[in-house]
Amino acid sequence: MLIKDIFAAKKPVISFEVFPPKKDSPVETIYDTLEGLRGMKPDFISVTYGAGGSTTNRTLEIARLLKEKYEIEPLAHLTCITSDMQEIDNILDELQAGGVKNILALRGDFPQDGDRRSNVSPGFSFAANLIEHIRQRGNFSIGGACYPEGHPECPSLEQDILNLRAKIEAGLDFLITQLFFDNEKFYRFMELYEHYNLPKLPVSAGIMPVLNTKQIRHITSLTRATMPKKFLRIMERYEHSSEALKEAGIAYATEQMIDLLAWGIDGIHIYTMNKPEATRSIVNNISEIRNCLFT
Ligand code: FAD
Repeated sequence: MLIKDIFAAKKPVISFEVFPPKKDSPVETIYDTLEGLRGMKPDFISVTYGAGGSTTNRTLEIARLLKEKYEIEPLAHLTCITSDMQEIDNILDELQAGGVKNILALRGDFPQDGDRRSNVSPGFSFAANLIEHIRQRGNFSIGGACYPEGHPECPSLEQDILNLRAKIEAGLDFLITQLFFDNEKFYRFMELYEHYNLPKLPVSAGIMPVLNTKQIRHITSLTRATMPKKFLRIMERYEHSSEALKEAGIAYATEQMIDLLAWGIDGIHIYTMNKPEATRSIVNNISEIRNCLFT
């Protein structure tokens, strides 16, 4: 099924993100994660794509597995910054052959090693170029990333939102946000989205339950997500006990989701970090709300 049709048919759409195991671990290590997530009946599961295509085969394999074995709609992430047209076309052919109809089209980050811009693709400078290319082939439902606090490379949130317009107009069907811990930042983003009159699309909010402080510090240093005082208090107070921190992190994510659902969010996309237990807890915490809002 095309994800744009899922958004058209129901609200809220609940989805998860998983990442492929590292190259030196067997791909089978993902089975337990998928087995654990399937019981929660997500509307789709997205599979990340390693920087520079480092997990291409695994992303494709897990997306196919989701469809064939687990009967869950997959969303394959795809980045373009280091790929040429032929490589992208080969991947699109493989996705199509495997029945994977949904792509999260991303630019990707500049390679860390060597001259940042020396080995980037001239044809795919921005995600909009990839989106346009995929759209020309037809057959796919295409999602894109958006950033409630602005993309780190962009000088201002306003400019980032104006840049988002080109991406939407290139052929997007839905948006998934970068993770955030402060819902007010998301609401401000949506106000600006409306203020600049961007074409209306379903937006899914990226939520990540805190499971350990090291992981969160790493992620927030990459994304620059604001940590509200309440969130910082929780991390500092409970960091000595992994179980206490996990419990508090689940409660924090639950509270964020309840507020977003009351606001009328189209979807929630949970960054599972391949941890089905924590995901199950927060999904169970909103089960009645999910039922009562379901349209
Ligand atoms: P773009 O939309 O191209 O934007 C990149 C920058 O360029 C922004 O600052 C934007 O404002 C600016 N810009 C856009 N158009 C123009 C223009 N015409 N002129 C000037 N500036 C412009 N990375 C991975 O490697 N693998 C993944 O699986 C992955 N999954 C992700 C999932 C989500 C939901 C999110 C939010 C991010 C994900 N990322 C992933 C990270 C992403 O690749 C990086 O954030 C990357 O730096 C930007 O990708 P983008 O698609 O948002 O780029």
